[in-house]
Amino acid sequence: MRRSDKEIKDPELIQEILNQSEVCRVALCDDGKPYIVPMNFGYQDQTLYLHSATQGQKIDILRKNNNLCFQVDTETRLVTSKTPCDWGMRYLSVIGYGKAYFLHNPADKKEALDLIMKKYSPVSSRPEKTFQYSDEAISSVIIIKVEIEEITGKKSGF
Ligand SMILES: Cc1cc2nc3c(=O)[nH]c(=O)nc-3n(C[C@H](O)[C@H](O)[C@H](O)COP(=O)(O)OP(=O)(O)OC[C@H]3O[C@@H](n4cnc5c(N)ncnc54)[C@H](O)[C@@H]3O)c2cc1C
Repeated sequence: MRRSDKEIKDPELIQEILNQSEVCRVALCDDGKPYIVPMNFGYQDQTLYLHSATQGQKIDILRKNNNLCFQVDTETRLVTSKTPCDWGMRYLSVIGYGKAYFLHNPADKKEALDLIMKKYSPVSSRPEKTFQYSDEAISSVIIIKVEIEEITGKKSGF
């Protein structure tokens, strides 16, 4: 990273950013043509979990090329100044690279959906045990498991 002073080296902070961020921008490559798609996600143990309908452009690309890059950010705020060149952005950001695999086992898919549901639902509205999904819902969703191979964190304005 050119600005090594902004690099986040603490793996726990990188994990915290992943847990706090709400939107994951997923970058794919279709025969050299880039495609980026914003998605919700869950994170656990160096792995991202994404859910999707079974058809569409990103699924078509992933079936051909499972290499993926992603970006998330949190705590973003515009920093203004009297001088235009001193304007900037405060942020905590993570970029990662990995390979995507589709989960087929219903129990694994349910576990990934639980992870995503827990991330987005406030503690007060979570069920005591686990979330319930019909068999139809489980079979009509694709769960993409992203095994993260490289990850970097960068912060600015803190
Ligand atoms: C904040 C946020 C969270 C989301 N979370 C999820 C999620 O968890 N799971 C999920 O499957 N989808 C999610 N979506 C929707 C997602 O971004 C895609 O629209 C959707 O997944 C369909 O992608 P696809 O490649 O199958 O597109 P297709 O339906 O095949 O359409 C492809 C075409 O539509 C355009 N397109 C696709 N998506 C968008 C978009 N978001 N904005 C503008 N143009 C678009 C593309 O440029 C391309 O031309 C989210 C969107 C947002 C904004």
